[in-house]
Amino acid sequence: MTQKQVKGILMATLEVRFLQEQLEERKRRLEVAIASAPPNSGLSSLLREVDSALDRMAEGTYGICLQCHDTVEPDRLLADPLVQYCLDHLNKPGLAALQRDLDLASELQRNLLPPKGLRAGGWETSYYFAPVGAVSGDYCDLIQSDGQLLFLLGDVSGKGVAASMLMAQLHALFRSLSQMSLPLGQIVTHVNRFFCESVLAGQYATLVCGLAKPNGEVEIHNAGHCPAIVVGRGGVFRIESTGLPLGMFLETEFSATRVQLDAGDTLFLYTDGLSEASNESDEYGVDRIITLVRQQSARQPAELIAACLDDVRAFANGSPSFDDMTMLAVRRSY
Ligand SMILES: [Zn+2]
Repeated sequence: MTQKQVKGILMATLEVRFLQEQLEERKRRLEVAIASAPPNSGLSSLLREVDSALDRMAEGTYGICLQCHDTVEPDRLLADPLVQYCLDHLNKPGLAALQRDLDLASELQRNLLPPKGLRAGGWETSYYFAPVGAVSGDYCDLIQSDGQLLFLLGDVSGKGVAASMLMAQLHALFRSLSQMSLPLGQIVTHVNRFFCESVLAGQYATLVCGLAKPNGEVEIHNAGHCPAIVVGRGGVFRIESTGLPLGMFLETEFSATRVQLDAGDTLFLYTDGLSEASNESDEYGVDRIITLVRQQSARQPAELIAACLDDVRAFANGSPSFDDMTMLAVRRSY
């Protein structure tokens, strides 16, 4: 492909327009900051880099590696619009800087996770969160409010840094809105709206979220996510998706499923990193998850997750995983 063709494709994407707006905003902020900063603050050289990136956007060479003239990875541009080399052509200091950034992002993301073993309103919980790389596009949170437990588990489209940024945005949106005493359905509708307005075309998130009350009642919304599994003395059943993923359409209705859980009943949520885990010949699949959860239904949440992890590892038989994996178990303890 010639550079001109690459340019055509790149410039046609929403990403470049988005990044251009981002850079112009940063340029404005830099100019304001430079006016009051000490002379050797390094802000002037940053401004030169931003100007150079804007020039490259104008002439259509933005996002093209200076070394090989191939395209620079889009998720890296989203994370840092000033990068000028593809991953293959980063020099040593560049690689070290990238590793530092990833380590920091990974640590920040771990800090967004809820406390381990959280209990609220007669509910006990446990979760497992494993990014396939440094950072994950999976989302998992547990929020206590008014003696109730709000649980959330989702999966942002894509992987890596760009997906983890959207995961952080979901986290912030749900954390803020959950403090406003709104019905859960309204919170999901608001988050969808904010998410639609801020994500790029093609980016979305599947999500299961629920509000567990002290009387055993659980309201669940499944927006395009894998089926949630409920297991207890009444048997096992699936709570299927009743809506589209968040971030796809502005005007989407999200309907709730209501279930009544007794002491000892468990809700099990997971991302497709579990259901789509595979060995040389087969995929793990939802049916295997259901069988395992049924067999292990008397277990505490942490034991259930450990059993599931053992089972999927044995199944994968050493095959590497290619997706982030998250599991969440919520059990009614009394
Ligand atoms: Zn290159």
